[in-house]
Parts: sequence; structure tokens; C-alpha cells
Amino acid sequence: MTNRQTGSPVVLPIEASSSMNFTEQSMQAAVKDGLLSEENIIAAFVNTDGVTQTIQSLKDAFPDSFRHAFAAKANTMSHALRLVKESGLGCEASSPGELHQALSVGFEPENIVYDEPAKTKAIIRKTLEKGVSLNIDNFQEFEFISSLMNGREIESKLGFRINPQVGAGSIGPMSTATKSSKFGIALDDAGNRGKLIDCYKASPWLKTMHTHIGSQGCTLDLMIAGIAKVVEFAMEVNAAIGKPQIEIFDIGGGLPVNFDCDEIKPTFEDYSNKLQREIPELFNRQFVVKTEFGRSIYAKNGFIAARVEYTKTSGGNQIAVCHAGAQTAARTVFMPDLWKIRLSVFDANGCRKSGNEVVQDVAGPCCFAGDMLAHQRKLPFIEPGDHIVLHDTGAYYFSNPFMYNSLPAHAVYGASCGVDGRVDFDVWRRSQTLDELLAVLG
Ligand SMILES: *Cc1c(COP(=O)(O)O)cnc(C)c1O
Repeated sequence: MTNRQTGSPVVLPIEASSSMNFTEQSMQAAVKDGLLSEENIIAAFVNTDGVTQTIQSLKDAFPDSFRHAFAAKANTMSHALRLVKESGLGCEASSPGELHQALSVGFEPENIVYDEPAKTKAIIRKTLEKGVSLNIDNFQEFEFISSLMNGREIESKLGFRINPQVGAGSIGPMSTATKSSKFGIALDDAGNRGKLIDCYKASPWLKTMHTHIGSQGCTLDLMIAGIAKVVEFAMEVNAAIGKPQIEIFDIGGGLPVNFDCDEIKPTFEDYSNKLQREIPELFNRQFVVKTEFGRSIYAKNGFIAARVEYTKTSGGNQIAVCHAGAQTAARTVFMPDLWKIRLSVFDANGCRKSGNEVVQDVAGPCCFAGDMLAHQRKLPFIEPGDHIVLHDTGAYYFSNPFMYNSLPAHAVYGASCGVDGRVDFDVWRRSQTLDELLAVLG
């Protein structure tokens, strides 16, 4: 096996590798191979075998009447989408760019669902022409789509996105089912139930119903309470029509990811078991059930590694200045309490440091004081040339580059570890050159 970027073999001693996990093995190989170095100061790595295993665990957890789509916004890279497609998932797209990507990596239109809240008339026409399914966000959007329908045969599966208004999880900005959320039709607002039933009755082409309770920070109980309320309403609509017109029920994504340790809590199986107990109607085949998981597929299968340039003390604080900050960990830097992530220290050779723990600040490279990955965190003593590893960053982090200070987007590698200690790297994205960055900045 060779490194696909350089063609050189990457081999680690077998005895050292057998107990090493993905992070350890790929850090050592990345340093050996120069993917992390004095010049290559930051890069990210995605565990491609891990993603495949995660998707298998998703498929195993649910019966085969479920159809799983990957929420593209969690990792919009073409390689990420292709990997997901090869594992047999569909794709949930929420913008013209994501739809274009989904189609260009070869997802079949019937396996794509489109969820943008601000769909232009042009994108609605395109999704219908392509046969991409679409969740209708509001009554005005419904009126426009209705005007396009008059007797037309379409492949797209259409229906409303419903907000069950069950409240927020622990992260307000990620909670989509609050009383006054911008998403979907608010189920309990005066008149909406009746209006929805009338729309479904008058429009036999409305065959789906969709809900998505939130993305991170929602408990399984909150998600299930929201879904249960909408499932009950879907059955009410079908009863009012007198036949099972709503054939597809889309429960959205949002399985929360724990950022505190390697263990996966909760698992897809935990979620499925609880859903089965509390909403058996999703499991008795009266609906084809769709899901739209994003973060839970990629987050724990990727990490960012950044070189430490300097260390110093200031006002009594021990500070390490590394090359990962707001340009790659925007949410963590701007909302440190809501998006706290685990950090580990690896030495210049890519070996994990342990022991000698000291309370330290870990700062990023940007020119504002708040550009910090962690304040007063107990970590092995950090020295120049070490690497800071940002764990569980395989989802959302690579789609959130921030161009403040004209810092380029870093490289991302797919990595596959062999049992013999070899690591096969695949370039998912080169580091952005300064010229490319300037072209984007204008
Ligand atoms: C963001 C989003 C998802 C995915 O959420 P995750 O937390 O990444 O699983 C699914 N469906 C919709 C409509 C979304 O907006």
C-alpha cells in the first residue's frame, strides 16, 4: 500500500500499530509522510473505514423499510458524498450548491431530498424536472408548486415540513422545533391543522410528511416527542382523506453526537430501539420511513491536527499558540461553551503525549483575543513542534472555514489504516494556495 499523494510507502512497526487507534496511527504516518510538518501546519483526516462502519451500524439498527439519506451540509466534500453514496445512502440537500454536488457525484435523483427553507422558483422547477423529492416549508411555497402541477406527472415525492413546536434542546441556534422556529408549518398555530388537511385532500400529489427537530443538543426524548406528534398528524390526515395518501414519513436527522470521549453515545441502535418502543407506527410498514442523519455519520470519524508554533506564559497563564483557530473551528471559538471539543497533545513525531498534565490555554493563529480552542484546560505540557488534535471534527468543521485574516482552508485527507500499521492517504482537498484564497476574497 502506498501513500496516494506521494507514492511512497507508509509503514509503521507492526508491534506499535496493533494497539493504536485511528488517530494515533494516522498522526504518526502523517508526520512521517510530511502531511504535517513545519510548512504543512494544519490538516484534517477522515477515517474512511470508520465512516463505512458507521453507515453499516445505521443500516443494521433500522429495518429495511427505512431509507437513509446523508445530510450533505455535515460534510459537503465530494469525496465525503461519494463515500456515503457507495455505502448505499441517499442525500439530503439544502441549497442549490449541495443539490448540484449531490447530482454531480452521481446520487440518483430519487435518492435525493431537498430541504432549503428559501427555495427560489428556479430551484423548485429544477428539483421537479429532475425528479428530486422536496419538502415544502410554507404555504406560499405550496401555492407556487400547486400552480406548476395541474395534472402533471412527477417523479418527485412532495409533502410538507411540519414543526411540532415541542421546544428547544440545549443549543438554541440548532433547535428547529421551537414555538416560533423559522422552519416548516407550525402545527399548533391556529388554523394550520385544518389548512394542512385541506391541502393534502385537494392535492393527491402530496405524498410525504417531514419533520426535523434539531441538529445537536436535542435529547432523544425531545426528538421522539416531536416525531410522534407529527406521525400522529400524518395518520390523522390519511384518515381524513380516507386512504393512505401519505406514503413516506421523513423523521429528519439530528442524532446528537457526544464530544466528550471516543465512545459513541447514543448509538443508532439506542435511537432505533427507543423509537420502536415509543412510535411503533413507524415500524409497522404503513410508511416508508426516511432519515437524514449528518453529524452522527461523520463527526467521530474525523479529526484536525495543528502544529504548535510557540508557547509562552502571560499573566500567569501557560499558553500554546497553534495553527487551528476560528478559521477551522469557528463554532468552537465563537461559542466555546456550546461547542466544546476534546483536545489531545501529540509530539513532533505524531506520538500521543500523556502524563505531566498542566493547566494551559490553547490559542489559534487569528488576530483577535477570543481565538482560543480551550481556556485553562488540563493537558500534557505542550511544547513548540507538538501537534494539537481536535477530536470529533469530521462533521461540519470542514464546511465552516472562515476567511478572517486571509487564512487558507486546510488540506483534508481520507485515511485508511491497515491492520499491519500501514496508512493509505487520499487527498480529499489540497490546502488552499494563497493565490486561490485571494481569488475567493476578491
Ligand atoms: C441539518 C439537518 C439535518 C442533519 O442534522 P444532523 O444533526 O447533522 O444529523 C437533517 N435534516 C435537516 C432538514 C437539516 O436541516
